Amino acid sequence: MKLYLDFEPCQECNTLIKELSSPDMLFADAKTRNHESAKFLRHLTYNHNEVVQAVMEDLPKQKKDQEFDFFK
Ligand SMILES: [Zn+2]
Repeated sequence: MKLYLDFEPCQECNTLIKELSSPDMLFADAKTRNHESAKFLRHLTYNHNEVVQAVMEDLPKQKKDQEFDFFK
């Protein structure tokens, strides 16, 4: 599942996103990757609460759309 976040990333966001998408991270083990994503999520929760809020509100909506497509 992909989430499209519409927000202004701060300096720390950019650093974390760069770390997460670096080749080192792509070949890292699952534990390391989970640790890094958790770090980013924690940063979002504390510094960009509106983003977390938007994702939460958007999730059930996306699911409904998918179900609707399925029955078409
Ligand atoms: Zn940030």
